[in-house]
Amino acid sequence: MNEVQRSKIILKILNKIYPKTPIPLKHQNKFTLLISVLLSAQTTDVNVNKATKKIYPKYYKPEHFVKLGRKKIQKLIKSLGFFRNKAKSIYLLSKQLIKRHKGKVPKNFQDLENLHGVGHKTASVVMSQGFGHPAFPVDTHIHRLAQRWGLTNGKNVIQTEKDLKRLFPKRHWNKLHLQIIYYGRDFCKARECYGLTCKICTTCYPNRKNPVKTKKA
Ligand code: SF4
Repeated sequence: MNEVQRSKIILKILNKIYPKTPIPLKHQNKFTLLISVLLSAQTTDVNVNKATKKIYPKYYKPEHFVKLGRKKIQKLIKSLGFFRNKAKSIYLLSKQLIKRHKGKVPKNFQDLENLHGVGHKTASVVMSQGFGHPAFPVDTHIHRLAQRWGLTNGKNVIQTEKDLKRLFPKRHWNKLHLQIIYYGRDFCKARECYGLTCKICTTCYPNRKNPVKTKKA
């Protein structure tokens, strides 16, 4: 079976398991989505949602965070890892949004990636989940699963994004990236591979005998 055949089987199984793909990070608008994605680095969406539940009812615009200042933002997000760096990014990108984009989140990769603390993955999530633009944000989970399913050679996340975009039709990208994340959390975890039990691998790799090891991003 080649990678194109595997990609078709994977798409079919994922659509069956996850017909709906709600956005895991709670937010009120595109700005708070951007902030939540930024906060989600090195922590879980559940932790981010817990922290932002108390923040967003009161603070949901760049102006609010500029007024708060770095120290107060730090206090608000103290429960999350790397809170000092994240507070700095939130403060600086809020200032940049006001200065460059009238307080609005820009709808293109270049302007998003020029904001403080915003990399390609964060920009892709905002473009995809905030604006509905076809994108394929690749995090460590997607990178791991794409390797285990033989959809990429696992060189790095840039290559994985290219390979997934080549294999799956554009109209599926936004839903598919969430479906793969869900599948990774539910079945195909970083430290566990049930090589002989998951439907995807028993269908795509009927002869596989051992759990798969993956290269890191
Ligand atoms: S068999 Fe392993 S690689 Fe395949 S889906 Fe299950 S956990 Fe993932």
